[in-house]
Amino acid sequence: MQKMLFVGIDVGSIATKAVLLDQDQVFHKTVPTGWSPREAGRQVFDQLLLDHGLSAGDIHSVIGTGYGRIALPFADKSVTEITCHARGAAHLAPESRMVIDIGGQDSKVIRIDQRGKVVDFVMNDKCAAGTGRFLQVIAAALGTDVSELSDLAAGCEPLPLNSMCAVFAESEVIGLLAAGKAKGEIVAGLHQSIVRRMTGMAERVGIAEPVLFSGGVARNDALRDNMERALKVRVVTPEQCQVVGALGAALIARDEAAR
Ligand code: ADP
Repeated sequence: MQKMLFVGIDVGSIATKAVLLDQDQVFHKTVPTGWSPREAGRQVFDQLLLDHGLSAGDIHSVIGTGYGRIALPFADKSVTEITCHARGAAHLAPESRMVIDIGGQDSKVIRIDQRGKVVDFVMNDKCAAGTGRFLQVIAAALGTDVSELSDLAAGCEPLPLNSMCAVFAESEVIGLLAAGKAKGEIVAGLHQSIVRRMTGMAERVGIAEPVLFSGGVARNDALRDNMERALKVRVVTPEQCQVVGALGAALIARDEAAR
């Protein structure tokens, strides 16, 4: 019998991720979303297929998720990010009861049950503070890259930041640099403000452990450690943290085919 292959595509504000599910093997690909979610979705799908010597006809079904999920004309269906993150998290760490996701322009906290079903969630998509794009802007103001923030903050005392708004925080950071403050202390302060925000959101849905930290921002180890200390629960970051939503979409495609 021919094996059934499934694809999940998460069209995010910054990055578009695709996951190919081949039995229990997971393969993924990420491209920048750029100005066209539709183009990025097509591109990531084509590249993933090319990498594996496949054509679209070899795929049983494709599910789209993420803010640009409606921009995928070749997808069989679209499913919300909340449902997909919950499904992906339950697969990667079945014991997890809460997902904290920080992406490019939103953040969410999802409480899940033992089957990966959503019990409750809160989402912040109204304000850029604390999201990946915000970190990119601040990293640029500090003359560095988001991938360096964790190391920069290592062992530094957090400098309290007063501005919760992304626009004002950027000016504040520039002012602090001009006043001779250390970059590490500024970044540690930034991490502290993000963690405080996420802790508030987690408290609103009721903290449950262990927590799975997902989204591109979860690649920042210092942020994960701070989150663990603030929430006082175990926080795990899977290696595939940025593709949890796309993985969930592929798994849902497989679940539906098995029905
Ligand atoms: P979206 O789904 O909205 O596109 P993602 O979950 O893909 O967002 O996350 C994108 C964000 O991840 C970027 O804005 C950036 O801040 C962050 N990021 C990407 N790579 C790294 C890294 N190596 N270290 C820390 N943060 C990262």
